[in-house]
Amino acid sequence: MDFKVIDRWLEEAMPEFEKDLAELVSYNSVEAPAEDGAPFGREVAGALESAVSMAEKFGFSVRNEAYYGVADWGDAEGSKDGFMAVLGHLDVVPALPEDWSHDPFEMTAVGDRLYGRGTMDDKGPMLAAIYAAASLKAAGYEPRVPLRFIFGTNEETGMAGVARYVQTESMPLGGFTPDAEWPVVIGEKGICHFTLSAEWDEGEGGSLRLVSADSGTAANIVPAKAKAVFEIGEGAELSFPAEDGIETVLDGEQIVISASGVAAHGSTPEQGDNALTKLLRYLARLDFAPAGAKAFLSKLCALTQDDKNGADMGLAGSDEYSVTTVSPNVLHVSGSCGSLLCDMRFRITDEPEKYEKLLAGLAEKEGFTLDAGHVTRPLFVREDSDLVQGLLSAYREVTGDMHEPLIIGGGTYAKVIPGMVAFGCEPIDEPSRAHQADEYAERGELLRAAKVYARAIYNITK
Ligand SMILES: [Zn+2]
Repeated sequence: MDFKVIDRWLEEAMPEFEKDLAELVSYNSVEAPAEDGAPFGREVAGALESAVSMAEKFGFSVRNEAYYGVADWGDAEGSKDGFMAVLGHLDVVPALPEDWSHDPFEMTAVGDRLYGRGTMDDKGPMLAAIYAAASLKAAGYEPRVPLRFIFGTNEETGMAGVARYVQTESMPLGGFTPDAEWPVVIGEKGICHFTLSAEWDEGEGGSLRLVSADSGTAANIVPAKAKAVFEIGEGAELSFPAEDGIETVLDGEQIVISASGVAAHGSTPEQGDNALTKLLRYLARLDFAPAGAKAFLSKLCALTQDDKNGADMGLAGSDEYSVTTVSPNVLHVSGSCGSLLCDMRFRITDEPEKYEKLLAGLAEKEGFTLDAGHVTRPLFVREDSDLVQGLLSAYREVTGDMHEPLIIGGGTYAKVIPGMVAFGCEPIDEPSRAHQADEYAERGELLRAAKVYARAIYNITK
């Protein structure tokens, strides 16, 4: 295959690519109430139909199944050796126009940058992969292993679109999802958001009495703030020792104790400074009522001395590739009950059942109620597999960048279909533009992505 021809085709196709991307961006494809034939709302349905038509114009055989779309190159269903897949999504997260410098749903070019919701997550990268396949097709290439594009419609709000695909369609041998960062994500840890809770008798009185204690805004964010509010009994004389990162403010008959730290994503607690565990350590030094609240918070304090790897909960562990993290993030205590929500990312060589058992044992021992919610399995594709080698060599050939494959806290779109890995196309060393105001993709990086995807598709289907 002469990739100079491919690269020239892609360069010349850029004006058409931009026109198509602007059309996809024009749909405010945030999940909305279902309508006839539009399970995730009209706008999502519009973006799906547009993307399917774009694949059709290049000669791929398409189907729009409302929950997802399919575009096949070669006879994917009839192939006895199976087929490879590219999985992307056409839904987006909300964009508040007042936070943006441009209309988020009217793609705007400023210099090399194309601004608009979905330009990077995930309309731009998905379209780059379609153009990549089209460039190979235009050069006369016929894949030995058929290739299927799967258009997801509900990645941001529950993955129900691709869940329908998994229930009703044939599964690929493997493939990639252009919905992460370079070079290639070969491992994603398992994810479990679990809650430990307890109830107690409120009782009455006490010279210092807890009204409430709270931290955190979301399960997957290390809290930068935590706060406890107490009532001080009449005539009580109390002193509150000074401590770094802790502020105590007297307000009439109440005292408010606040802890400050540094927020981080729940999958990387080592990049943050957990305000909740500071608060718990401080509260452990105070005597207060109700006794049940005091006992609950003291137990939590003992269990979160290690607020990054879950050692005190008996959850810590590592393997050749990854380290388990556990971050205690969201606390609510008031009246006669309390709960703590933790974000656990467990090592890629483990099964979820192991943690279901460990957590049940922990809850029983401490007298807590456990809610372990949904546990997501880890993903791991070996670096020396044909798939990863085919993708990595494509990336290295175009960019010259020798970054090693990544293992992350999870979870990308690749997790929903076994054998898939996440492959581009955000830069590895910059903060992600996905989900941000003024989301953009550079023309240059989308063109480069298309060149990488063309080589990758060739490598995994030849
Ligand atoms: Zn995405």
